[in-house]
Amino acid sequence: MQQGSSSRVVCKFGGSSLASATQFRKVRAIVEADPRRRIVVPSAPGKRDSKDAKITDLLYLCHHAASIDADFSGPFRQIIERYEEIERELGLAIGIAAQVETLRGEFARGVSADYAASRGEHFCARLLAAYLDAEFVEAADCIVIGSQGMVMPETYELLGARLADPARRYVIPGFYGRDVEGRVRTFSRGGSDVSGAVAARAAHAGLYENWTDVPGMLMADPRIVDNPRPMAEVTYAEIRELSYMGASVLHDEAMAPVREVGIPVNIRNTNDPAHPGTRIVSRLSPEVEKSTLIAGVAGKTNFAMITIGKHLMNREVGFIYRLLGVLEHNGISIEQCPSSIDTVSVVMDAAQVEGRVEHVIDELRRTLEPDEIDFVPQVALIAIVGEGMAHTVGIAAKVFGALAESRVNVRLINQGPSELNIIVGVAPEDYARAVRALYAAFVN
Ligand code: ASP
Repeated sequence: MQQGSSSRVVCKFGGSSLASATQFRKVRAIVEADPRRRIVVPSAPGKRDSKDAKITDLLYLCHHAASIDADFSGPFRQIIERYEEIERELGLAIGIAAQVETLRGEFARGVSADYAASRGEHFCARLLAAYLDAEFVEAADCIVIGSQGMVMPETYELLGARLADPARRYVIPGFYGRDVEGRVRTFSRGGSDVSGAVAARAAHAGLYENWTDVPGMLMADPRIVDNPRPMAEVTYAEIRELSYMGASVLHDEAMAPVREVGIPVNIRNTNDPAHPGTRIVSRLSPEVEKSTLIAGVAGKTNFAMITIGKHLMNREVGFIYRLLGVLEHNGISIEQCPSSIDTVSVVMDAAQVEGRVEHVIDELRRTLEPDEIDFVPQVALIAIVGEGMAHTVGIAAKVFGALAESRVNVRLINQGPSELNIIVGVAPEDYARAVRALYAAFVN
């Protein structure tokens, strides 16, 4: 695996980190505190408080209104005022209002929703480049996004060449690039994380810092566990497992570009820059490896499960194949598939079978001729994730001991071959109790 070959650091700042002039000042202090912080990737200004609007949302709103010939002057005014206020309070004079104003005509003429949304990052990067006295890099010139939303390989060469001078400071807007035909195209929502990762890889950065408004990743959901500990260090593989279960502060697709070349990620808090945050690495450092058994506990309650029983199922060639065939035919993807000799369960996102359970079960009955078939509309899955679990004796005993003590009935168990996680399925009403019990068993 290739480690980042330079000591340059890419810093991506999220929307709340750039929501106002005050936040811009914090960003400048952070960037200037470390001379390695050479490449800066901003999101669009986010909410200043819970009642505020995100610029990206306002842009989508204007775009939609314009597309049905409705009046969009209200939200458009709000957009201009936000940028103007930041410019004025920072003492800049780049004529941001006039730049944003050109968008009004573009809306009326009918631009794409992607183009409209991308302007949030674009104007923010214009202001930030001026404020940091850095060079503005047009993302649409160097990030190429394929039809499925993936980063095209030529991006790395184009962007790498554009960011080549190690002595310069660059600002490149997040969230967008262009498609293969040259039209502005965005990633999915929250995609500035992906842009930051792409920039880190293109620049062979030594570190990708992702600055947000939380102190890093927590070992459990704070809505369930009181004051869960932050993770100091976690591997890419652990993050993948945890974010699959909904515990993530990073966009799902942001990990791949840096993971493939081994550039570490550091999640940091713009409002508390002294806090070391969470480091995401290929391999845990020996101290962390020695001292931690699990990275965290995460879960979701929105699964459904179909269990099929048939005597001598194990001898019936192609049984699972036919089962999966029915699901494929109905466009259902499965999350887990635990089995025993004569039973097999399939767990899926409940939304996938909503309104058509009868139909799917009917088809399974006809195709598989089972002895029994059972549908559970809501199951919660909990993953206990940690590199330290592999080769450690007694993990399963600890998991099931903790659940038994809390009187939680386990409906399914799955340990992946990587031994990176153990997944248990429980009734939704037991979910919070189970998470607390597991956290307490492994962390406290
Ligand atoms: N501004 C975009 C959004 O709100 C992208 C991002 O913030 O990463 O989704």
